[in-house]
Amino acid sequence: MTERILTDDGQDLRYIDENYKYIKNKIEEAALRSGRTPADVRFMAVTKTVAPYIINRAIACGADLIGENKVQELLSKLDDLHTQGLEMHIIGHLQSNKVKKIITTVAMIQSVDSLSLAQEISKRAVENDVVMDVLTEVNIGCEWSKTGFACEELTERSLEIDALPGVNVRGYMAIPPVCETEEEVRGYFSRVHRLFEDAKPQFAKPSFDTLSMGMSSDYAAAVLEGSTLVRVGSALFGQRRY
Ligand SMILES: *Cc1c(COP(=O)(O)O)cnc(C)c1O
Repeated sequence: MTERILTDDGQDLRYIDENYKYIKNKIEEAALRSGRTPADVRFMAVTKTVAPYIINRAIACGADLIGENKVQELLSKLDDLHTQGLEMHIIGHLQSNKVKKIITTVAMIQSVDSLSLAQEISKRAVENDVVMDVLTEVNIGCEWSKTGFACEELTERSLEIDALPGVNVRGYMAIPPVCETEEEVRGYFSRVHRLFEDAKPQFAKPSFDTLSMGMSSDYAAAVLEGSTLVRVGSALFGQRRY
């Protein structure tokens, strides 16, 4: 595959390198400030709407984890992506009938928001003789418009899901409501972190280790509040054009 230097509209792809380094540094700083090491926080590049040759530039910078919202979009990019050593996760609402298409492609489904979806993942995982890592999604703002489990039922539902064959609950994923201040968003992150820590003894396994929260506008705040995986799209690739 030939290395491209310019985007389709003539932009020099080195902006990706700069953004990557900048974000990586900020994550590391926040990890240290939160009393952890840089290795404790993973940096996911969210690649929805981004063309494969641009994603490959981020991979060349060191990105080893990408997240896509849509199954079809991910599958359509696979042939053109440098996937060696690359881990891929689904992070968007997933329809049950799409599970079978990605059960052997992705390493994790971060957006498990219903028991019926988890049951379908279980069925397909068993069929394919794999164990799928998942995160259960919490509707932390209790917004009617959002998917995910309510805080009060999160642990119980997650334990039920973890008991399904072929499914391994690795932790929680959260998208807080739009906030006016950093203090406000940190309050949401802090609540999710508490739910995660409180649930750890009940899961009683080392692999319950992932707290996915923080996006372009608030990833540093999320890390300060205990996130172990930030999902960053536009701060890395620029504003999305649909
Ligand atoms: C799009 C998306 C992101 C990344 O959003 P940015 O604000 O561009 O960083 C993270 N998580 C999920 C679930 C998303 O859909």
